[in-house]
Amino acid sequence: LARLRQRLAGSDNALSRGLLALLSRDRIDEETWEDFEDTLLTSDLGVGPTTELVEALRSRLRVDGVADSAQARAVLREEMVRLVDPTLDRSLNTQRTDTPAVVLVVGVNGTGKTTTVGKLARVLVAEDKDVLLGAADTFRAAAADQLETWGSRVGVPTVRGAEGADPASVAFEAVRAGIEGEVDVVLIDTAGRLHTKTGLMDELGKVKRVVEKKAPVSEVLLVLDATTGQNGLTQARIFAEVVQVTGIVLTKLDGSAKGGIVVQVQRELGVPVKLIGLGEGVDDLAPFDAEVFVDALLD
Ligand code: GDP
Repeated sequence: LARLRQRLAGSDNALSRGLLALLSRDRIDEETWEDFEDTLLTSDLGVGPTTELVEALRSRLRVDGVADSAQARAVLREEMVRLVDPTLDRSLNTQRTDTPAVVLVVGVNGTGKTTTVGKLARVLVAEDKDVLLGAADTFRAAAADQLETWGSRVGVPTVRGAEGADPASVAFEAVRAGIEGEVDVVLIDTAGRLHTKTGLMDELGKVKRVVEKKAPVSEVLLVLDATTGQNGLTQARIFAEVVQVTGIVLTKLDGSAKGGIVVQVQRELGVPVKLIGLGEGVDDLAPFDAEVFVDALLD
């Protein structure tokens, strides 16, 4: 929690500061509410959830000019936790069955897919799991190199194909190797070119279908860059149409004041945020927890 708080607050315009500054005012007038709304919108909470939150607070605080800041803070915390939704199942299915658990990591290039695969491998290795990486982004040689570098950093092997090879065949090969090596988890990094939706649809769909000939896919994680706002949401929608996403990884939350996107993306896709990226380092991936997240924002 302390680390999360430190990372989230690493920005001058952090959401937390805005909210707390408002709550520490001794009078809550119309202008305060407007500022509050602006802060929430700036955090990418979205219009609907922002209105809901403001209305809930207004009615619960029944403000007639004077605010008890401790009470305001407690109510704000409660309402924010409700929006982020503590009831969602955010567990990550990486349990081996007869075959390795297969995790597909998808998302637009630059969002942090490869980095997330590396960090996730690290988490799994720390849980004593045998992990294998598959470099199914075959369009950029550098992508496979980068994944291999992560693999050696965390001590797990990488299966890669020739540049320009069929991504599905590399994914298939990785799962085959994982089955043969009896590993626990195969993490597959995919390509995220978005220029044609049909191209992406064909490619990702094919990767999934081909992998499923060998082993069931246990998670499809969509990586989303928290700093990209509405654009990121549009991308997320497209991916969700293409493959059945089971969880969202929200990256680059460190130093970002855009934490509100958690709520929007969960509502839009009906899929929980399961992991968050808090930096470029190997240990900068954390499981997402609604209460811990809100506390980090408000503390
Ligand atoms: P990919 O193209 O989707 O595979 O993206 P990469 O994994 O190559 O990441 C793109 C850039 O974002 C790299 O410079 C990463 O170091 C950086 N990055 C990834 N995740 C995070 C994060 O959680 N926080 C920050 N600050 N940077 C990140």
